[in-house]
Amino acid sequence: MIDSSATHHITPYASDFSFYSKIRGAVRLGNKSTVAQEGTGSVTIKTSEGYTITLSNVLHVPMVNTYFIAVSTLEIKGSEIIFASGRAKILIGGKTIISGVRDQKLYWLDAAPIANLNLHVGSTPASLHIWHQCMGHISHSALKAHGLKALKGLDIDNTTVAPAVCHGCELGKSTHQPFPRSTKKSSRILEIVHSNLAGPMQSKSIQGSKYTATFIDDFLHHAVVYYL
Ligand SMILES: [Zn+2]
Repeated sequence: MIDSSATHHITPYASDFSFYSKIRGAVRLGNKSTVAQEGTGSVTIKTSEGYTITLSNVLHVPMVNTYFIAVSTLEIKGSEIIFASGRAKILIGGKTIISGVRDQKLYWLDAAPIANLNLHVGSTPASLHIWHQCMGHISHSALKAHGLKALKGLDIDNTTVAPAVCHGCELGKSTHQPFPRSTKKSSRILEIVHSNLAGPMQSKSIQGSKYTATFIDDFLHHAVVYYL
């Protein structure tokens, strides 16, 4: 919301800040009430016009229920604010960077803070491959096509080239072909005996065995199991 009487930008949410200092104080609102300020810092917002703007000296006031954009602060910083025909526009160098609409006596801007995921891990955008690994090894093309719209704060560094083959994908998505069927056939008892030893098991059997050994006669298909 644009506020012509406010001297600072205000947000109720600590999570909006990219830089935050805990500085307590009191803020006097337009209706003459005083509310507690918990901190101050910088908030980066993305506007409907596609601009990313960092507002400094933003106050964190948990008691307010919406965002306040202070007109005087924007004007001091060199922006132009136009109110006309039920709309508000903020311009820098003749270009509209944020616009909004009037609802009764208040102007609401079409912009939202970026709860920037990168800010928690570092200040530079992560590479496409890092995002690929973070997002459960989603395909690079799907990440590029849908990621920016689907995830708030996703910031891909397009200057890096993703490797052609991801080792994790190679291991996780490869399948094992079934063993070929045997063509050998036995013609009498005990000519071929198939045997397998399995174990050690995590839990012992009641008799205290940890292994099983199986012997299967190929001709009769008679099986014997030993517990060891
Ligand atoms: Zn992968």
